[in-house]
Amino acid sequence: MRMLQIAALGVSLICCACNSGSKTETSQNQIPADTVPVAVFDGDSAYVNVKRVVDFGPRVTGTPSHDACGQYIVARLETLGADTVMIQEGVVSAYNGDRLPYKNILARYNADAPKRVLLLTHWDTRPWADQEAKLDDRSKPVLGANDGGSGVGVLLEVARHLQAHEPQVGVDLLFVDAEDYGQSDGWGANEDTWCLGTQEWLKTKPYKDSVVPAYGILLDMVGAHDALFYREFTSQQLAKPIVDKVWSRALSSGYGDRFVNEVGTAITDDHTFVNRAGIPCIDIIECMNPTTKSFHPSWHTLSDDMNVIDSSTLKAVGQVVLNVIYNEPA
Ligand SMILES: [Zn+2]
Repeated sequence: MRMLQIAALGVSLICCACNSGSKTETSQNQIPADTVPVAVFDGDSAYVNVKRVVDFGPRVTGTPSHDACGQYIVARLETLGADTVMIQEGVVSAYNGDRLPYKNILARYNADAPKRVLLLTHWDTRPWADQEAKLDDRSKPVLGANDGGSGVGVLLEVARHLQAHEPQVGVDLLFVDAEDYGQSDGWGANEDTWCLGTQEWLKTKPYKDSVVPAYGILLDMVGAHDALFYREFTSQQLAKPIVDKVWSRALSSGYGDRFVNEVGTAITDDHTFVNRAGIPCIDIIECMNPTTKSFHPSWHTLSDDMNVIDSSTLKAVGQVVLNVIYNEPA
């Protein structure tokens, strides 16, 4: 993913950053009082999940290590009791002409429930560390512990809980491919070169009208030490009730320190396209790092390895997601 120049919304990235200091309208009186401690998210288990996918090496779409990791994710979801595991495969063209054999993986829990929540993350990693200082390093692939690994680690741990305790709603876990093969230069004009797997999934999403998810939550770069999660700008614009729901739940769950109740920068990410398809979707993402004022310093560099990952960050995100899911009425 990358920072978004919000031409269509008439504001710039700089404006978004400036706005980040102002409090949103969400107030204490929206705190849910009924958080049910159904499931205790295990950050260490999620950490092990991240390490397992990172151990495959860079998961660049179309490479053998990517394929092996995809098989691992599918096998895990089948072991973890998903009602169905659906694979959408195809070939899509990247902006540079590369032909990408992508694989989107959808695991459905409580498949007959008429109300559903979509949890998604990308599982591919960036082919080029184009944020590296050295020119020679920019053509090397990113290991993607945080960017491509952390969301997978959290969702596989969520799956373990869904197997043990059925929520009142149906839950769809979607692992999308080819998110990070986009064109980094040329602000504003190349948005559609990113999130290719999600764009393909939305063309043929396996939902009848009656079971389209009520909303979606995207997890991206949710594993770094001391990560803070601001209300990402696009989410706030397009799916504010869901942002309110999740950030309120974070506060009532004891994670108000991690889920900062202020608006952050705007990101082009998978949720951008899910919103366009009519499903309100938010992005939980570290987008206001104190050092960079945007992503974690390891973003799209060779430093995005397991040293970046902290189980307490995974725990904070995973616990909030579980608390949202298990408090969601049918
Ligand atoms: Zn990325």
